[in-house]
Amino acid sequence: MGHPVYYSPDFVRATDHFDTTRKAGWLADSLSRSPIPGVTLTSPPPLDLKDALRFHSRDYLKALATGSPLELASSSRIAWDPDTLARALSTCGGLLAAAETALRTRVAGCLASGFHHARRDQGQGFCTLNGLAITANLIAERSRAPVLILDLDSHCGGGTHGLIAHNPLVWQIDLSADSYDSYPGSKRGVLQLVRDPKDYLRLLWQHLKHAEDEWPPFSLCIYNAGMDVHEKCQYGGLKGIDELIIALREEMVFQWCGARGIPIAYTLAGGYTGRTLSRTRLIHLHRMTIGSANTLSA
Ligand SMILES: [Zn+2]
Repeated sequence: MGHPVYYSPDFVRATDHFDTTRKAGWLADSLSRSPIPGVTLTSPPPLDLKDALRFHSRDYLKALATGSPLELASSSRIAWDPDTLARALSTCGGLLAAAETALRTRVAGCLASGFHHARRDQGQGFCTLNGLAITANLIAERSRAPVLILDLDSHCGGGTHGLIAHNPLVWQIDLSADSYDSYPGSKRGVLQLVRDPKDYLRLLWQHLKHAEDEWPPFSLCIYNAGMDVHEKCQYGGLKGIDELIIALREEMVFQWCGARGIPIAYTLAGGYTGRTLSRTRLIHLHRMTIGSANTLSA
């Protein structure tokens, strides 16, 4: 029993203090203090800049490296610092390593967040580079087999949608409670907005079943396991979505993949502390993903 979870101190090296730039460290500390049996923190290599250049523009990557123009370099809304590019390559490398490992061992995780709003030419919504789209595109190309991105962050993944549009092997299910970064859906990219918490699990199941029945068999699921849909989260929370619903969601996702033999690589995604959601509670929510993933490991 157990699985690797990729983490590097480089994930949290930004000078801008914010949940997205600190949370991975909180989880790593929590896992060190209070381990989940068999879950091992593993250091990933950063994403190769050449791979980033295939999906993000040269001008944008140059701005991330140099800080100029500053507006572009900080377009994610995370203040630019000299480690910005290294941090983003490190987080993308973490998810890619998790995906590569999951293909061999069924399940692996990454403690990074901040991917799905990033565009080819700029960052957006605290997302610098789009590790979800980069990983899905690279794995689909190498394996020549379909890859599913399952995005359950509360906000929509419009950045990802744009970056996978060219690739017939990458598919996306995006279940969101907040319309930020929404987009017109497509055959390979379903966006479902949830308004009533009572519909949340049913709609998730419906879309997973649809994918199973109508879409090609997936060689990998990349899971963006956002916790910001939780009712106490100040950005994205939907009243009525409590810890039990999220626990059942995690169980549904990992069991769906496990029962169908689909390897799964997960990453943390959204979840924000605030007046109503403490750091301890947020860490607990993200640990539920790691715990559910662990039920899949041999
Ligand atoms: Zn979000």
